[in-house]
Amino acid sequence: MRDGGLIRDGVDAELDEARILQRDAGAFLAKYQERLISEYNLPNLKVAFNKITGYYIELPTAQSKNAPPELKRMQTLKNAERYMTPELREFENKVTSAEARAMERERQLFEAMLEKAVGQSQVCIELSDCVATIDCLAGFARAATKLNWKRPEMVDEPVLKIEQGRHPVLDQSLGSSFVPNDCHLGCAETETEGNAGAGASLALITGPNMAGKSTYIRMVALITLLAHAGSFIPADAATIGITDRIFTRVGADDALHSGQSTFMVEMTETANIVNHASNRSLVILDEIGRGTSTLDGLSLAWAVAEFLAGEGTGIQNIRPRTLFATHYHEITDLQDRLPGRVKNLHVAVREWGDQIVFIHRILAGKTDQSYGIHVAKLAGIPASVIARAREVLSSLQVTHAIDGTASGNGSGGSVRPDTAKIPTKKETQQLALFKEFVPHPAVDSLKELKIDSMTPLQAFDALRKLQTIVVDN
Ligand code: ADP
Repeated sequence: MRDGGLIRDGVDAELDEARILQRDAGAFLAKYQERLISEYNLPNLKVAFNKITGYYIELPTAQSKNAPPELKRMQTLKNAERYMTPELREFENKVTSAEARAMERERQLFEAMLEKAVGQSQVCIELSDCVATIDCLAGFARAATKLNWKRPEMVDEPVLKIEQGRHPVLDQSLGSSFVPNDCHLGCAETETEGNAGAGASLALITGPNMAGKSTYIRMVALITLLAHAGSFIPADAATIGITDRIFTRVGADDALHSGQSTFMVEMTETANIVNHASNRSLVILDEIGRGTSTLDGLSLAWAVAEFLAGEGTGIQNIRPRTLFATHYHEITDLQDRLPGRVKNLHVAVREWGDQIVFIHRILAGKTDQSYGIHVAKLAGIPASVIARAREVLSSLQVTHAIDGTASGNGSGGSVRPDTAKIPTKKETQQLALFKEFVPHPAVDSLKELKIDSMTPLQAFDALRKLQTIVVDN
């Protein structure tokens, strides 16, 4: 509005006139001059404009005596006289105010239009709503026909069965190189060798970085979302149980601006899932517990996986359909601990010399290979650093204490506590009972030792006694 030019020519006569005057002032002056010359027979008469005087009619001094009375004298120069006429004055007024008038007129027209629009706003909103709905449905229809999407079967049972699903975006950008995958969660069907844990509601997905875990779990969530929005889906076939909410924990963004670390964000999102997911929800988790120490992270991931597999407290026992991508291979033990509820999937890769090839296929079973060093090499970490990492990996013997001692073999490229030593929930409760209520003579003796005043020999002696008490007990 500040510069004008909003409303086009031909819409409003008054606006057009103001614009024409501005544009055609030169032509008007030439015509007017011609008319005065012939009317008064004054061939040297000029009609002109300058910024100081404005518009004027000029005659050389020699001819000024012939000026008719209609020309009112306004200025005497050395060799010329200048005049004004009511017609020229009117023209001047019109032109000088034309720009301001054009702007003002545009403003009036615009405001009138707004007022008219306000009166029609309800209709505009309804119309936009219809257009948006048609646009969305036409988009779905176009995708369905052009991209060969299929109609999902929506059912009441909390199942999820996708055959040859494709990620709607990557499928387009990668074209034929995109590898479709199946997903079976909570489907009460007969287990076969290639279909182990078919009835499980929670799938743990392991596999190296870059293998396609995130893509797979996002694909499942997107297909579920599209199906609920009323769209066909990028898959050969699907049976999708009505889902109340889709919970996601993906990405590793922090929220430092609001005082939250990456790990805090991760835990806040996980808390929301654990507190609000129901048997009808779909949960996708892209790594949990990576922002803290390995053992903390593993323990949290383990407990969250158990919870989502129905091992919550009695009051809060839920089994949402869950896809859990993780680097903690240790958690894959849950398949044996919670049979029929948890199953393992992995993303297959092929080894070729000291290289790995990603084939992006999701298969049953677990993997305990991280290929972290291979991926680092692909990413461009210098050869010397890679070589050193291999050295460290092969010599690393990690010892941990999770209720005892466990040793790692480093094959998974991660600190590897012995999962056999992780007690089941029931065992933990019993253990706590004993620890709390049964005193032990060795512990009592230990408490009484005055370490500061003991010689090394006395200390050794005390240690031997302690051991004897434990062994005898
Ligand atoms: P991860 O989560 O295991 O680290 P991503 O899911 O991020 O791996 O996948 C890494 C890349 O691999 C993607 O950006 C994509 O280019 C490719 N990719 C993943 N899944 C597929 C697939 N099914 N078919 C073809 N390419 C894939």
